[in-house]
Amino acid sequence: MCAERRDVVVVGGGVVGCAATRWLAADHDVSLLEADRLAGDASGKASGMVTNGASFRAHPGFARTAADFFPEFDGTGSFEFTERESVGLVPEGDDGWAREEARRMAEAGFDVEFVDASTLEDRYPDTFVLEGYAGALVYGDSGWLDPYTYTVTLADDAADRGADVGTGVRVTDLLVEDGAIAGVESTEGVVRADRVVVAAGWRSRELCLPHLELPVRPFRWQAATLEPGRGLPDWYPMGWDPTVGRYWRPEHNGSIHVGGGEVPVNDPGSRRSGVPEEFRLRLATELPDRLRHLEGAAFVRGDTCPTGDATTPDTYPILDEPAEGPEGLVVATGLHIGGVMSSPAVAEAVRSLVTGESPGFPLDPFRLDRFDERGTEFPFVSHMAETEITEARIEADHARAD
Ligand SMILES: Cc1cc2nc3c(=O)[nH]c(=O)nc-3n(C[C@H](O)[C@H](O)[C@H](O)COP(=O)(O)OP(=O)(O)OC[C@H]3O[C@@H](n4cnc5c(N)ncnc54)[C@H](O)[C@@H]3O)c2cc1C
Repeated sequence: MCAERRDVVVVGGGVVGCAATRWLAADHDVSLLEADRLAGDASGKASGMVTNGASFRAHPGFARTAADFFPEFDGTGSFEFTERESVGLVPEGDDGWAREEARRMAEAGFDVEFVDASTLEDRYPDTFVLEGYAGALVYGDSGWLDPYTYTVTLADDAADRGADVGTGVRVTDLLVEDGAIAGVESTEGVVRADRVVVAAGWRSRELCLPHLELPVRPFRWQAATLEPGRGLPDWYPMGWDPTVGRYWRPEHNGSIHVGGGEVPVNDPGSRRSGVPEEFRLRLATELPDRLRHLEGAAFVRGDTCPTGDATTPDTYPILDEPAEGPEGLVVATGLHIGGVMSSPAVAEAVRSLVTGESPGFPLDPFRLDRFDERGTEFPFVSHMAETEITEARIEADHARAD
């Protein structure tokens, strides 16, 4: 453990902490402290979808900053970014909204168009069953990556830029003196620092108490790998279907990764990493009804984050040095929608909070003071709507399996 005072300590070696460390390391003395191993929590389990133009449509500047990074970082170490079009299916009746959305995001610099159902059939032959759909929003600027490799490559790059990356070091408290951050207490002793960046996922809340209260609670995504009924063409698109709340993407080995179904959890420590039987059963019918290659698909494995992902009352992150906390405490948590795909913009936001530089997008939408409440009792908001799988039903499923 480094004995001298650091400019910045970053807490958490998920994708957010590793990206923030990389963005700061070239001109700051930075220590990254991870309780367990890098990408060992939500970050290593992510689906790797990079669809910023759709997922962060409410914040186009933030989305643009994030999307621009991946092609640039491709080829660093073992990291690969696979560029691929993504297709957001649009139900009948929603085409007016979709055309307007395409126009708005194209103005913001995104490569996106609304494609009607018959043109979609020509563009992706024998791919979709489009009964009940007006067409799709088709996005360029999208692709996928392996989230574990991406996170570890960010950390390696940060180390190459001079950061100390410490794993197996749990931060047990923030060190606050005269209302300002003085460092952290950890299982390896005190590390003094001028700034602390808390990027500890849903555990950011417990770590910041009693110095600062964050409205952040844990939840889970469900994901699975399916072996398609027939081979995938090399242009096979990624996409999502809002009517069933599922997304999908091809894998390099020819299988299809599917996911969705967020579920709020109250006791994240007690979970295993498999998905419930009910999710498997629904996967067997929902997407095969829409994606022809999934007719007759076989279930390979299910996955979820071992302890939980973090959400906020509006599902957007808190990226802030909150006035109500100790001076020098920067928070980067609540990456419900996509902490992997947004990590370059999150890291730029963290850097700007530490250095005072302007980020290339407004930070106000990510400030803590946009919320009235600070507790965890806020209603859970779902993006990939999950109406039937509840926490209680998952527990019952797991109990049956034991
Ligand atoms: C199944 C699934 C699919 C997903 N799909 C996508 C996707 O396609 N695209 C996308 O962009 N996002 C996706 N996500 C979301 C994404 O994984 C998260 O938004 C992202 O990983 C959050 O990163 P994080 O660094 O904030 O948190 P985490 O990855 O949870 O990292 C937090 C880290 O902090 C450490 N920590 C906690 N407390 C302490 C402490 N006191 N001291 C030291 N270390 C501590 C933990 O050990 C952990 O390693 C998905 C998530 C799941 C689970």
